[in-house]
Amino acid sequence: MPDETPVIQIRNLHKQYGQLEVLKGVDITASKGHVISLIGSSGSGKSTLLRCANLLEDSQQGEILFKGEPVKWKGKGLARRPADHKQLIRIRTNLSMVFQQFNLWAHMTILENVMEAPITVLGRDRDEVEEKARMYLTKVGIGDKCDAYPAQLSGGQQQRAAIARALCMEPEALLFDEPTSALDPELEQEVVRVIKALADEGRTMLIVTHDMKMAHDVSDHVVFLHQGLIEEQGAPDDLFGNPQSERLKQFLSHSA
Ligand code: ADP
Ligand code: MG
Repeated sequence: MPDETPVIQIRNLHKQYGQLEVLKGVDITASKGHVISLIGSSGSGKSTLLRCANLLEDSQQGEILFKGEPVKWKGKGLARRPADHKQLIRIRTNLSMVFQQFNLWAHMTILENVMEAPITVLGRDRDEVEEKARMYLTKVGIGDKCDAYPAQLSGGQQQRAAIARALCMEPEALLFDEPTSALDPELEQEVVRVIKALADEGRTMLIVTHDMKMAHDVSDHVVFLHQGLIEEQGAPDDLFGNPQSERLKQFLSHSA
């Protein structure tokens, strides 16, 4: 029997910053090998949803399950926190995040950047990690940049290094928050190609993006978030080709 348990299940998730309600009951299920894109206007809660999913942010209500294992909470409402630190680390390291601004360490080489977390967080053997890091850097097309520092690379190369760094954690899923938004259009495509290749090899991914073409081309499922709620969702051809809600139609007409 193949394992059918979804990698990530989010049920009725509520998140507020003080009085500001940002997520108002969101459900998302990412099965193994599936790619889900999250689209929506700025401020609709996309980044918050990703950050709640991998427990970088607390949420006040609702459940998060990683491979069927519910996050254990203590406290209620604004005081709710993950109860089990080991579980938190296990989930966070298995849902590896790639950020818009790459977030590479400026004082470390590209190779050191990719090797850092597997060694310090996961306690892996240095030689083994180095071999993997070189392999993932080659995979994203910058195997020749191991000894360079981030500032010596183009934005597209830095983002590919950040993707290699996420891969080197050997996570169950990758979470991307606007991975191409900081890039010039000609550099965007080299990152899109890497993400497409990862989708084709069956990686589980949640991708927040403003790039509707990428969302269409790489996703199995697209979710349109509006003011903290899922307004519409579906297969990319349906959602982009035959949007139902007026808000989605309007959003798509502005983001062509
Ligand atoms: P998106 O990624 O869709 O643009 P965000 O998830 O970043 O949206 O933000 C959703 C809302 O939450 C916005 O109104 C934003 O100002 C607010 N917000 C995000 N992060 C914080 C924070 N750390 N503290 C207070 N408000 C926040
Ligand atoms: Mg955002």
